[in-house]
Amino acid sequence: MKKADIEELFARFAARSPAPRGELEYINPYTLLVAVVLSAQATDKGVNKATRELFAKVDRPQAMLALGEAALRRHIQTIGLYNSKAKNIIRLSEILARQYGGKVPTDRDALEALPGVGRKTANVVLNIAFGEPTIAVDTHIFRVANRLGLARGKTPLAVEKALEKAVPEAYRQHAHHWLILHGRYICTARKPRCEECLVRDLCPYDAKTGAALVARDGARIGKPGKADGPAKADGKTRQKAKPGRAPGRGKSPPKADGERPAGGAKTRPAGGAKAGAKVRAKVRAKVRTNAQNKAPASN
Ligand code: SF4
Repeated sequence: MKKADIEELFARFAARSPAPRGELEYINPYTLLVAVVLSAQATDKGVNKATRELFAKVDRPQAMLALGEAALRRHIQTIGLYNSKAKNIIRLSEILARQYGGKVPTDRDALEALPGVGRKTANVVLNIAFGEPTIAVDTHIFRVANRLGLARGKTPLAVEKALEKAVPEAYRQHAHHWLILHGRYICTARKPRCEECLVRDLCPYDAKTGAALVARDGARIGKPGKADGPAKADGKTRQKAKPGRAPGRGKSPPKADGERPAGGAKTRPAGGAKAGAKVRAKVRAKVRTNAQNKAPASN
């Protein structure tokens, strides 16, 4: 995506939603951390349903330890993987209580050292709780960044690194929320709602084929949501080269071994031009002899 388009894309997101917020409910950095740990492979809605009652009782690591693992499990049993999540939350609460005086560390390495906390969770906490311009690449951001061509990559880390380079500094703080909400409600996985999309004219993705309608040189050759008609570039119809045909020529390419294509030019005798001339001379001589033999005898 071109720089000017990226600038335009975020300017539109910012104009529509100047201060976007995530949908996970929390009270302080600790409850945010717990909520994000619980949200792995679960919906924010499902997590909120379980944590409303939990956070009314527990908003510090010490209180979580007092509650205990069994009671925590009962609170979060509607969330997938709740057994291992409960274990991790108790263990991370022990570390926070023992090493950090019950506070959540503001340092990435310290966060990632906590049980159940990976790079994505650390990025969310750093961004939301501590105002750092991090971008946590989840499934929505991964999809949106690749479709838009904003930051292409095969892994979340590759996309995160590409986003760090691509997103203008002025928009870095909120980029995480804009992209995640866009992916969750508009640029959905199966049927992106391109007709309602704020940035449709900037997007090279073809919702019908799943392909990026962008030529290798970056020129736009079609629009998302349009039928797969002949895509145009530079005012010309772009044609796909057929297998075995030279692009745009309509003729078969010469064979690799130097042979002429079958059915093409006349077959030449083996041995080259000299041998051919000898054969032709022999044929002419034979024709002459035959003609003389057939001629009526002179009186
Ligand atoms: S135009 Fe469609 S594919 Fe492109 S960002 Fe918008 S919703 Fe996603």
